[in-house]
Amino acid sequence: MDVVVVGGGPNGLMLACELALGGVRPVVLERLTEASREPRSNGLVGQVVRMVDRRGLFERLSGQAGPPKPNNGYFMFAAMPLNLGLLDDSPIHTLPVPELKTVQVLEERAAELGAEIRRGHELIRLVQDDAGVTLTVRGPDTETYELRAGYVVGADSAHSPVRKAAGIGFPGITYDRSTSRSAHAVVPHDWLDPATGALKVPGHGPVLPFLPVRTAGGGFSYAPLPGLPPLVTTVEWDQPESDEPMTLDEMRASINRVLGVDVPIEAPTGDGPHVLRRINGGNTRVADRYRHGRVFLVGDAAHVFAAGGTGLNLGMQDAINLGWKLASAIRGGTDVLDTYETERRPIADRTITYSQAQAALLSPGNDTTGLRRLFGELLTQPGVVRVLADLVAGADVRYPVADGTHPLTGWPAPDLDLHTPDGTIRLAELIRAAKPLLIDLTENGDLHADGIEVVRATAATDATALLLRPDSYVAWASSETHPDQDDLRDTVRQWFGAPVNA
Ligand SMILES: Cc1cc2nc3c(=O)[nH]c(=O)nc-3n(C[C@H](O)[C@H](O)[C@H](O)COP(=O)(O)OP(=O)(O)OC[C@H]3O[C@@H](n4cnc5c(N)ncnc54)[C@H](O)[C@@H]3O)c2cc1C
Repeated sequence: MDVVVVGGGPNGLMLACELALGGVRPVVLERLTEASREPRSNGLVGQVVRMVDRRGLFERLSGQAGPPKPNNGYFMFAAMPLNLGLLDDSPIHTLPVPELKTVQVLEERAAELGAEIRRGHELIRLVQDDAGVTLTVRGPDTETYELRAGYVVGADSAHSPVRKAAGIGFPGITYDRSTSRSAHAVVPHDWLDPATGALKVPGHGPVLPFLPVRTAGGGFSYAPLPGLPPLVTTVEWDQPESDEPMTLDEMRASINRVLGVDVPIEAPTGDGPHVLRRINGGNTRVADRYRHGRVFLVGDAAHVFAAGGTGLNLGMQDAINLGWKLASAIRGGTDVLDTYETERRPIADRTITYSQAQAALLSPGNDTTGLRRLFGELLTQPGVVRVLADLVAGADVRYPVADGTHPLTGWPAPDLDLHTPDGTIRLAELIRAAKPLLIDLTENGDLHADGIEVVRATAATDATALLLRPDSYVAWASSETHPDQDDLRDTVRQWFGAPVNA
């Protein structure tokens, strides 16, 4: 067996899809017999939305025709509005979709592509040697069996048995001062502003949908999600710990402490499960390595962030980065596996800044209030909004490149419309098969590279040629009328080696 992926959450399943596109059929071990119905993320935010479009999954996840449109309205950072309308080109894309649906769509897609998904199978032991990894698995009838794999990927959540078995540390901090409470709840109609959808809070003013507010008592947000009851959330500091089950009365009392008003929320009717949750504290941690020998980590197994909202943006892109590299190494192509960590770990490190800066700006106290006022003034400047929007989207870290390389190299390929003799096609649609691609935009149209498919086209860009990796990142680019073929050939060899047929 080539690869076993442990964990059939969104990131493990995304990796299974990528491996299968790369010509390798992975086995996915998932201990749950069916996908968890516990509500978690409500959607995808950032670069990952462009990436799912580049795999033909945007329509399935959103239920809408593509392409995804950038958010040119408002987003938030630490309960402060980020006016994306100040930017010419907003980098933030959002795709509202409950995590359960993301898992279902990815599981269906992975199975279509030939991945073997074993539900009800739990990894209980893992030992690696130079030639492979031996896994002990408990099956649905509690019988145990052994599997031998060339590589194992832990996509098995923050507690990651794979990470522990591989002896990989998970340093970081546990933040224990905050208590977050959330509930799906119904609010009386006359509390809602039909024009803006805002929650009208007497004595406080309107709370706009999806734009959290901070008060002296904590934070509050109101999120009327499509197809679901509105989600109300509070965050408070230094609350007494409680082991009692969370109740709607506790939610009401918490809202009152934060907003100073009794908001008459009621339990929703209709099919659940509905959120009614209390979370004390949180962890911000990044694995000290993403690889140990034949074992890799993706998603929450590799990183978690207390001020969340980014887990899937990072995790699904980890999977897209690792999938083609692992498939290439298994199929005898170039081994570029070590670049997985050098490319992806700095992005998790950067997300620590995102998470901790938000936590600091939300914390109680007059000092923070002063800092927020100043920050609010800075947020009227487009340059500041740009920096934060790129940070939120995960669009501000370039993969490592040599000095002097073309400015597009190391970034995801731009969203171009390509005019070919057969018609106009979006670049996102051309790269769904996850193969390397040379886009020849020269007048002569005579570029070529061994084993690499070439598309000859014109497009509204200064570049005259782009070599894309299967994850749609630019491996090489040129703006010369006659691009340097030797340079192109060297880059092809560096990333893809000798041509290998999937
Ligand atoms: C309340 C909440 C709200 C969130 N909101 C957001 C948000 O708005 N945006 C966002 O991006 N992220 C959000 N997140 C984070 C997001 O849910 C996670 O980043 C995401 O679920 C991680 O996916 P994963 O595939 O890495 O891990 P998981 O989804 O945790 O999947 C891991 C899988 O591994 C399986 N497993 C574990 N051990 C074994 C074993 N020994 N053998 C076999 N299988 C095993 C588990 O059963 C599980 O199915 C939220 C999380 C929570 C809890």
